[in-house]
Amino acid sequence: MRDYDLVIENAAILTMVADGTIIKNGIIGVKDGLISLLGEQTANLCCQAKKRIDAQGMLALPGFVNTHVHCFQSLLKGLGADRPLIDWLNSSVQPFGVRVTHRQQELAALVACLEAIRSGCTTLCEFFYTNQDPELADVCIETMQKTGIRSVMMRTFQDYGEEYNVPDCYVEPVEKAIEEVERLRKKYSSDDMLSIWTGPDVTWATTRKGYKTILEYCLDRKVRYTMHLNESREDNDMCRRHYGKSIVDLLDEIGFLTDQFLAVHCVYLTQSEIELLAERGVSISHNPAANLYLGSGIAPVPECLRAGINVSLGTDGAASNNTTDMLDTMRLAALIHKGACRDATAMSAEKVVRMATLGGAKALGIEKTVGTLEVGKKADIILFDPAKIRSVPMHDPIATLVYSASAENIDTTIVNGEVVYSKGVFSCGIDEEQLYHQVMSELEEQ
Ligand SMILES: [Zn+2]
Repeated sequence: MRDYDLVIENAAILTMVADGTIIKNGIIGVKDGLISLLGEQTANLCCQAKKRIDAQGMLALPGFVNTHVHCFQSLLKGLGADRPLIDWLNSSVQPFGVRVTHRQQELAALVACLEAIRSGCTTLCEFFYTNQDPELADVCIETMQKTGIRSVMMRTFQDYGEEYNVPDCYVEPVEKAIEEVERLRKKYSSDDMLSIWTGPDVTWATTRKGYKTILEYCLDRKVRYTMHLNESREDNDMCRRHYGKSIVDLLDEIGFLTDQFLAVHCVYLTQSEIELLAERGVSISHNPAANLYLGSGIAPVPECLRAGINVSLGTDGAASNNTTDMLDTMRLAALIHKGACRDATAMSAEKVVRMATLGGAKALGIEKTVGTLEVGKKADIILFDPAKIRSVPMHDPIATLVYSASAENIDTTIVNGEVVYSKGVFSCGIDEEQLYHQVMSELEEQ
């Protein structure tokens, strides 16, 4: 008789593999954090397990991969509302980033990670930029670890910024940023649930030397990198003023456009730039809620997908989204392109679920281990309960996931074979109401 750490029985399994396999009455066996059994539940299949979950009536699918978050912004929901990007940054986000304390960083990361887990997210990418207190990064990493989520810490840098009022304490030489990235890589190298990345923050806070030096470092050490790219018109305006060309052309000239690069936003891309990004193997993180909230625009995602670019989904920080909820982002990602293109076929629910799962895994270079449910892959699995009023009746599981779901439908979130959330309870022991009071009293003390 086979022996497992965890067995999930009687689930309808959306594997999200290329042929769209759905197993109507399936069983999943997990051993040492990996999926070691997946198939039809048969009467004669007999196995032992330390823990069993009866998922009768539920869907089991790969956990969502959120490729762009700024955890510290979880304490800024609703602040700086109804302002354009630069004004919003300078009036709300930057001043808080200057003075954020270790305790605030911890609470903010808890709010972000737990909300993510609760909405079915199993991998979260933290795009870290604040002042250069090195311990803030450690607090953020250790809090993410505590919640049980799989994570990428993208410790980014800004080596310029006077013209756009970037606070002095954010600016550092690129060499100093690299030292810090190396420190984090060494310190957390034994944790295979965490990767450390880097990258420039944004066009108007990076020098040409900054791009070149970080690129050399990343290619030499095989460190993947990210950057906000063309979120607003400001990127190209600034770049044309300083370099006489668009930011995409500048990056290509430097050799920055590679398959190790995750470009965030990409609201402003010409057709030839889309083709160039596709040719270079760049992945994109699409953040529809933040792009709408700041009036930045709508990224040309259907065109990017048609060109063959790998597109993933991000919520962005809660200061420009007001949630870290992947289901919310998935619904927007489906709807806005239909409206913008005046074509209901411009984006399908199936494409959105792929962007939220395998697309995210590919964007992080971990598609061999997560993003689909297959034997041999990491057991990052969510159980979706359709028996909630918002999603009744469920005719088509994929359509229900994208158009009729909320975090209320997420019954269980499993990361690396461990249940991190089930039926309203987080395994890390954090109580939601207690966390709410801790956040409120921290903010009142300010
Ligand atoms: Zn961002």
